[in-house]
Amino acid sequence: MAPNDPSATDLLAQLVAFDTTSRNSNLEIIDFIEDYLDRRGIPSIRVDYQAGTKTNLFATIGPEKPGGIVLSGHTDVVPVDGQNWSSDPFKVIERNGSFYGRGTADMKGFLAVALACVDEFTKVRLERPIHLAFSCDEEVGCRGVRPFVQHIGAHLPRPAAVVVGEPTSMKVVNAHKSTFSFETEVTGHEAHSSSAHQGVNAVMVAGELIHELNLIAEDLKQRANSGLGYEPPYTTVHVGLISGGTAKNIVPRRCGFVWETRLLPPEDADEVPQRMRAFADTLLPAMKRISQDCGIATRLINTVPGLQPEASSPAESLALFLAQENGTGAVSYATEAGLFQQAGIPAIICGPGSIEQAHKPDEFIAGSELKRCEEFMHRLAKFCAAK
Ligand SMILES: [Zn+2]
Repeated sequence: MAPNDPSATDLLAQLVAFDTTSRNSNLEIIDFIEDYLDRRGIPSIRVDYQAGTKTNLFATIGPEKPGGIVLSGHTDVVPVDGQNWSSDPFKVIERNGSFYGRGTADMKGFLAVALACVDEFTKVRLERPIHLAFSCDEEVGCRGVRPFVQHIGAHLPRPAAVVVGEPTSMKVVNAHKSTFSFETEVTGHEAHSSSAHQGVNAVMVAGELIHELNLIAEDLKQRANSGLGYEPPYTTVHVGLISGGTAKNIVPRRCGFVWETRLLPPEDADEVPQRMRAFADTLLPAMKRISQDCGIATRLINTVPGLQPEASSPAESLALFLAQENGTGAVSYATEAGLFQQAGIPAIICGPGSIEQAHKPDEFIAGSELKRCEEFMHRLAKFCAAK
């Protein structure tokens, strides 16, 4: 009883309909995928990240043996909050050959194509396995995938290569920056705003710290190296979240902000936090004169290792063949590719859609990109079926 062959675009619409914003559970989409595979006789296992809310799914098509190819992708998406969408972000609509919806490019398009090709993978009788590794909580710092990478490295026949399907417009990417995320918490001293001199304004101190980050970012820009293929070709510094204060007429006691640096190799990971600390030290004496409880604390909340180009990597040569490309590139966003590489499994990034459209309102993927990804999968099926 062969189930009907669904098209990648049907599957894309089904996957996008699950609101898998990272703060939500991803169990429903995993149930759907698990059931889809199950109906095709493909068993899958879950590797939980947070029991009861977040899980990763791993499935093997073909023989249980080493040397397989992992298709890796995340099931979560970034929030649509505050974004101006011209249509429902969780309902795919087609306009001029492109498919609009949250996650179409980043990266449910890749998942949809991989799933649509499962019947073909089954039919061709694979000599080497194709694995699906669908993860959670990627958009919040490649978190969910960590126990998953560990599990794959420790408990499964070792794969030969991992293809991470982040949107690269089907170009082969063999390098990405590393990311370091920090949270800075400013503790000031509360006062009535008419007596501002008796308080320490945590929001305004945070403003000075953020200004310092701007100056550091400018310095780093001066050290650009365009020879490495990154865009932009320098280390970036960015503040993504800020919160503080309770009312207009209260000198705010607290302000916190979350920031990151994305490092151009081989920049020193400690440089930016050290400069921030040194600058904070210049602000503290004046704050402490008002109250000893004042402080500025910065903590590292997450790091994602970079992906280093590997000479004669089997992942790279395979991906170049599958994508019919003849050169590699580098990207500035982090992926789980660096984590797989750290675990000793060669990894490469190649997926449909453009990062230009990711994370933005009216995110879309061109139908032609889905087609190119399907062709990639057809070649993969042939490659893995060859004796
Ligand atoms: Zn992504």
